[in-house]
Amino acid sequence: MSEPTPFWLAGKPATGSATTTVRHPFDGAEVAVVAQPDPDQVETAVAAAAAVAPAFAALPAHVRAGALAGVSKEIARRGDELARLITAESGKPLTWSRAEVARASSTFRWGAEEARRFAGELTRLDTDPPGEGRLALTRRFPRGPVLGITPFNFPLNLVAHKVAPALAVGAPIIVKPAPRTPLSALFLGDLLADAGLPEGSWSVLPIPNDRLGPLVADPRLPVVSFTGSGPVGWSIRDTVPRKHVVLELGGNAAVLVAADYATPADLARAAGRIALFANYQAGQSCIAVQRVYADRTIVDELLAEIVAAVRALHDGDPADPATDVGPLIDVAAAERVEAWITEAVEAGATLVCGGTRHGTSLSPAVLTGVPPTAKVVSEEVFGPVIVVAAVDGVDEGFARINDSAYGLQAGVFTHDLATAFRAHRELQVGGVVIGDVPSYRADQMPYGGTKGSGIGREGVRSAMTDLTEDRVLVLTGL
Ligand code: NAD
Repeated sequence: MSEPTPFWLAGKPATGSATTTVRHPFDGAEVAVVAQPDPDQVETAVAAAAAVAPAFAALPAHVRAGALAGVSKEIARRGDELARLITAESGKPLTWSRAEVARASSTFRWGAEEARRFAGELTRLDTDPPGEGRLALTRRFPRGPVLGITPFNFPLNLVAHKVAPALAVGAPIIVKPAPRTPLSALFLGDLLADAGLPEGSWSVLPIPNDRLGPLVADPRLPVVSFTGSGPVGWSIRDTVPRKHVVLELGGNAAVLVAADYATPADLARAAGRIALFANYQAGQSCIAVQRVYADRTIVDELLAEIVAAVRALHDGDPADPATDVGPLIDVAAAERVEAWITEAVEAGATLVCGGTRHGTSLSPAVLTGVPPTAKVVSEEVFGPVIVVAAVDGVDEGFARINDSAYGLQAGVFTHDLATAFRAHRELQVGGVVIGDVPSYRADQMPYGGTKGSGIGREGVRSAMTDLTEDRVLVLTGL
């Protein structure tokens, strides 16, 4: 048996007494055996993070920026290896793995840029007599070492979204990658190890889920930045109410296609975007299109276009560059989505196409006539499923989008500026995308959810704000 892939303990490779096997979601083949840290090694990582925190926060910005820029370049240079690794561990089609690598490189580049810009602000105090001769200078300082917990569906870029902002503000970080997809995060460790960062400022620890409680509760890690499912995220928040907890959770993203988006070219474009971004990672994206509301005047044409576009997608081996739709992460996930489709059909829905499962793969499904209480509408389906429903006008469209326990992003296909601004005002989500699907995300923009979709914002600059807190310096006698 080959040596297990080491984890990263305070910036150094290490192995423990246990291992775990990573398997390819498409065919179950063994991809790698990964070392897991023992409890005393986890303690070493936490103690090192706490010890280095003051010195790391004081490191000059140009040093942190230089390290981040170096990692960005290395991600790009080793992009092919990284993309193949993402595909092997997550089953993501290679084209999308390459896109994820490019984004991770960009996330670190933004970290480098923002590290140079992140400064503070001045507040005038001479606005009232007691403040004459005074000035307040506010800077943001790290809250302390960060525990970053990440999901399987973007195994590199969501790790980048924890690491780059932490290093940019000078906060040590311990990354706990998803159990099924630790390899990209461990590969990133190779690049961080060459970046000249202080010893102890970062660790990547694939700790089993049942051993995470003490780490989450550890007071030396005052920030827990979690991306993953709602039940786990909210339970973390309940367990450590006094910590600063950032939750980037799931959603059941919706799109409205308004009556004015009605030319044949409009409908073909909207349908193409909907079909692709409902299915592009077999629907396993927190902002994958799930619910489609279309004005009654155009819904039939739109549905026909969506079905045609869905049928044109290629499903199969994610390593094949022609594949659009790969497998789900495991058989249990594929069976759950299949069961939810069956539940909808039993409740009266029509399955227009797809929904056939082979192992971990599920052919993209389009459903109509689904009761709003069915799980494919009300819960996060996290699979290749589109639910299409007719609405009468923008009012009903917005009401249906907001009729959700979640609120991550929404998309509105319209040409009307007033509808765009109204959507921004009225939709209960962290982001509204006009003229496109809700699945658009750029790594520098604020990103996160409301309602059941979480608390806090990522996007490099927003995450840097979240990982730090204001401290005011009042100067007197000026
Ligand atoms: P998950 O909640 O099962 O796992 C996420 C992480 O939590 C993993 O690292 C896992 O090991 C860890 N974890 C599990 N039990 C834990 C515990 N008791 N304490 C602490 N950590 C624990 O999620 P997943 O299946 O890997 O990912 C899919 C979910 O992530 C979906 O709900 C998706 O919408 C969400 N997601 C959200 C965003 C976002 O930015 N909002 C992005 C991607 C994915």
